[in-house]
Amino acid sequence: MKKLFILMIVGAIAMFSACNSEKSDRIIDVVPEESFDLVIVKTDEPDATIIIEPTNEPTIEPTSAPEKTPEPTPTPKPTPEKTPEPTPTPEPTPTPKKESSKNYLILVNWDNPLKENYVPSDLVKAKSIIGDVVAYRNDSAKLDRRTAEAALAMFKAAKKDGIKNLFISSAYRSIDAQRDIEKRRREKDPTYFDDPYNHPVIAMPHNMSEHSTGLAIDILLTTMRNDDQAFADTEQGKWLAKNAHKYGFILRYPKDKEHITGVIFEPWHFRYVGVDAATEIYERKICLEEYFR
Ligand SMILES: [Zn+2]
Repeated sequence: MKKLFILMIVGAIAMFSACNSEKSDRIIDVVPEESFDLVIVKTDEPDATIIIEPTNEPTIEPTSAPEKTPEPTPTPKPTPEKTPEPTPTPEPTPTPKKESSKNYLILVNWDNPLKENYVPSDLVKAKSIIGDVVAYRNDSAKLDRRTAEAALAMFKAAKKDGIKNLFISSAYRSIDAQRDIEKRRREKDPTYFDDPYNHPVIAMPHNMSEHSTGLAIDILLTTMRNDDQAFADTEQGKWLAKNAHKYGFILRYPKDKEHITGVIFEPWHFRYVGVDAATEIYERKICLEEYFR
């Protein structure tokens, strides 16, 4: 009996244990994991439903969107200031020389020499304008254009008055050509140019001749081709002395002005100055030097 009792006790203990173990099997300790901290276990249901509710939504730190580096506002390209086109300095419009605007009243003498490199601006072949109204020592002789035109008018008027045999002995001479003349004079007489107002000359030094301006013409005769004061007594010489001013010419070296001009009486040497000045000089019986005083 005692044995049976013990067996009963042991059996009871065993049963109790079994029950406990079954129970303990149903209890699941769930150690919350990091991200799940609540576990509800329903043990009265055979199939324990385990509901796991995440309580902590894994905080996903929203990776802050990298701040959008503000696109650097493109610095507006500075509109390159348009360098103003340099306004071209307007070329001075060369005023066409009117015949009347050219200064024919230049004074070339002992006190007013020409520049060593002086060359007149408007030289033309005299014959190309005057033609065969007169004869020429040199068919290629040149003159200032206006001077040639005035000479043509004068020679035509002379011809109309019956004046014949006019001859252009000399017209434009370059400064170098005049230098040769000066040289020959000096070779003959080294003192030739030394005292012109007391000993007037017939040829000027290289840079003092009116012939280098293109405004002077030596007019003689086909029958008197070289400088000769006797020309003054010829019909032609007289006509020129009396009428040249009407065409703008003056008898440049008058007989009674040698002490002023420093040049001997040259009845053949005519100088273009324009009608107005020539007329005044003729009427006042003065020379060009006096006209400028
Ligand atoms: Zn002359």
